[in-house]
Amino acid sequence: NDGRVYNFAAGPATLPANVVKKAQQDLYNWQGCGMSIMEMSHRGKEFLSVIQKAEADLRALLAIPDNYEVLFLQGGASTLFSAIPLNLCSPEDTADFIVTGSWGDKAYKEAQKYCKANLAWSGKATKYTSIPSSGSELKLTPGAKFVHVCANETIHGVEFKDWYPAVGEGTILVADMSSNFCSKPVDVSKFGVIYAGAQKNVGPSGVTIAIVRKDLVGGAQPTTPVMLDFKTHADNKSLYNTPPCFAIYMCGLVFEDLLHQGGLEAIARKNNDKAEILYRAIDGSDGFYKCPVEASVRSVMNVPFTMASPEMEAAFVKEAAGKGMVQLKGHRSVGGVRASIYNAMPRAGVEKLVALMKDFQARHQ
Ligand code: PMP
Repeated sequence: NDGRVYNFAAGPATLPANVVKKAQQDLYNWQGCGMSIMEMSHRGKEFLSVIQKAEADLRALLAIPDNYEVLFLQGGASTLFSAIPLNLCSPEDTADFIVTGSWGDKAYKEAQKYCKANLAWSGKATKYTSIPSSGSELKLTPGAKFVHVCANETIHGVEFKDWYPAVGEGTILVADMSSNFCSKPVDVSKFGVIYAGAQKNVGPSGVTIAIVRKDLVGGAQPTTPVMLDFKTHADNKSLYNTPPCFAIYMCGLVFEDLLHQGGLEAIARKNNDKAEILYRAIDGSDGFYKCPVEASVRSVMNVPFTMASPEMEAAFVKEAAGKGMVQLKGHRSVGGVRASIYNAMPRAGVEKLVALMKDFQARHQ
């Protein structure tokens, strides 16, 4: 044991051990150039090679079509909550929001400032434990400029699996994939914009990735701040101003690692396997552990569960931490326990958690 714990945090989250070690090895003197990535010009040939390779590897991983821009942005996914309506809408346009949890709700509320935001579906009444199962449940607006979904709700643990709402001709499908980015293959061509903060599946905090169909670049509202205009970053290959160089470098190492592991189909198989182990343990506990989420839409990334009382949950979280499994406390808004099992969480981490769950139940039942 080298002192590393199993980190079940929702984000910033665990990174692949080999990636962290490689960064450590290369930190002081990157590829013999006499300085670290953090110290070099973002316009020098060294950093250009880093950002270009990161983009190329991400394009390969997600099979991103050529008519899409890949943008490395700052401000977190939260900044995209305003940038999206600013870039895709005029203030008179309507945009539909399918709100399946807290993050989708934040996107919906922010968009109200910049367009006519319509709540096309909300899971609030059932405490965000489901997602719409077909288009007939949605109150979509004919002629809406875009439809926004949060592909995976990090706090509530609901995930769109392979179904996404069919949007009308001329309507743009937009997805916040912050917490399931690069966890499985995605048909990028279905979407006008996909965006994700890096700090869950693909890197450290500080960089947000946006994949934007090229015809959607260049139509921002006139008052859009230059830094929020997709065109600024598309025209300048994400180098309009100083980018988060180190975060982009780390994402590049993660993309390389994901390709080495066999790409996103292989990653999805590993992720499904880990999630199945954990959900099976919850469902097989005779109600000692309960997952409130409807089975068909349970997140493969964020697994929330509850126990008989908050005191018992606290005792479990504490005991887990003592055994090197940390950050299992549920989000402060919902309580309970939450295990985030992103790409970089090894199967052994999930198995160790399940072993503790069984042992804990035997002692507390
Ligand atoms: N969307 C989702 C699904 C998230 O999980 C988060 C962060 N937890 C955000 C958006 C906000 O991301 P950021 O902190 O990068 O602004």
